[in-house]
Amino acid sequence: MTSARKPARRPFGQAGREVDDVIAELGRKREDDVRWADGRTFGLVYDGGPTVHDVAEKAAALYLHENALNTHAFPSLGSIQSEVVGWTADLLNGPETASGFLTSGGTESILCAVKAARERGRIERGITSPEMVVSASTHAAFHKGAHLFGLTLHKAPVNDDWTADVNAMAEMVNENTVLVVGSAPQYPQGVIDDIPAIASLAAAAGANCHVDACMGGFVLPFAERLGRDVAPWDFRVEGVTSISADIHKLGYAPKGVSVILHRTKELRKFQTFLFDDWLGGFYASPNLQGTRSGLPMAAAWAVMQHLGIEGYVALTKQTLANADQVRAGINEIDGLVTLGDGAFHLVAISADPNDSDPLDIFALADALGRYGWYLDRQGPPDSLHSTISNSNTGVIEDYLDTLGRCVKEVRGTSTDDRSTTYATLD
Ligand SMILES: *Cc1c(COP(=O)(O)O)cnc(C)c1O
Repeated sequence: MTSARKPARRPFGQAGREVDDVIAELGRKREDDVRWADGRTFGLVYDGGPTVHDVAEKAAALYLHENALNTHAFPSLGSIQSEVVGWTADLLNGPETASGFLTSGGTESILCAVKAARERGRIERGITSPEMVVSASTHAAFHKGAHLFGLTLHKAPVNDDWTADVNAMAEMVNENTVLVVGSAPQYPQGVIDDIPAIASLAAAAGANCHVDACMGGFVLPFAERLGRDVAPWDFRVEGVTSISADIHKLGYAPKGVSVILHRTKELRKFQTFLFDDWLGGFYASPNLQGTRSGLPMAAAWAVMQHLGIEGYVALTKQTLANADQVRAGINEIDGLVTLGDGAFHLVAISADPNDSDPLDIFALADALGRYGWYLDRQGPPDSLHSTISNSNTGVIEDYLDTLGRCVKEVRGTSTDDRSTTYATLD
């Protein structure tokens, strides 16, 4: 998108303002934001319903000011972290030895996994030029990790079904490989990679295998309980050494919380940073943060306790019904197709390549935006991404009607704006 010219810098007021006045202005600032509470966004915000909001807001109010930097001062946060991590380890079939930490989100969990793999390679195998192997669908956060922590990254293509091409990945593994990555599911098309094959590649090289279940961690365990066919992806797969799972996505907790799990405490050690050589005292750091808000941790604890496994199974049932309805509806619209096998909650909409005059999918996104529906543009190939969740319950028919209308409106038109929008700067 073309960025509008920035307005002149607004001076910071000399005098303070009344609480009501301040809050009223914040309210006005939000007027142009996406209307997630109406279910008209696919991703970004995940709405578990009124009682989930209630319990999260009450926990957030209790923990708004608390700091998990020092769990000796706030033992409640130590216990919150260890309980949430333990419940997640159970959901992901972690062995008794599994251990992990809470982080601020999927990206931080992934960065921790990359750092842990680098340290394990250095300490156990003497690797000074660490390398990692991912695929084209692997989340951008792994590239960020390679960039930050100085790893060379090799990127394999994907197969026709959008899963990682494991044969191509095998070609890229060498004696410097410290990390091999699979996703369950990957973000762009929502398919699960061949995790057993990826894990055995990593194990044969003595490297870590990280499964990125940022999206799937709080869906797949419940989909399995619902009797859905879920390809093996969690700690039951031998060779998987770490998994990331975001509670602030389909775990329905407010933003700022994810779990990074390692198969053993020994593997977890490579993630942490311990330091005792400055004037301020012993510094033990579980993740990338220093001062660390207790709010998201406590809110996640509260949401998980409120929902229980039964609550998550019910939300997942609704989510998958919503996703199935969206996929069926899209595939009935002339000119549109979905990409991938479409088993779970991610749906990528693309123009039907067999069309004599394929639709401009980004022009379609613009048209949907005019009706108040927000979808991320992604590619290649040009497609619109939707993360379906319980948030979209009750609006799907309206959405599909609008989608059909927009397809008719944009047929034969195109937009010059080819930019994609997963994340933006300012
Ligand atoms: C969302 C996501 C991430 C990144 O998580 P953030 O919480 O946005 O930092 C990584 N991998 C996958 C598959 C994701 O869906």
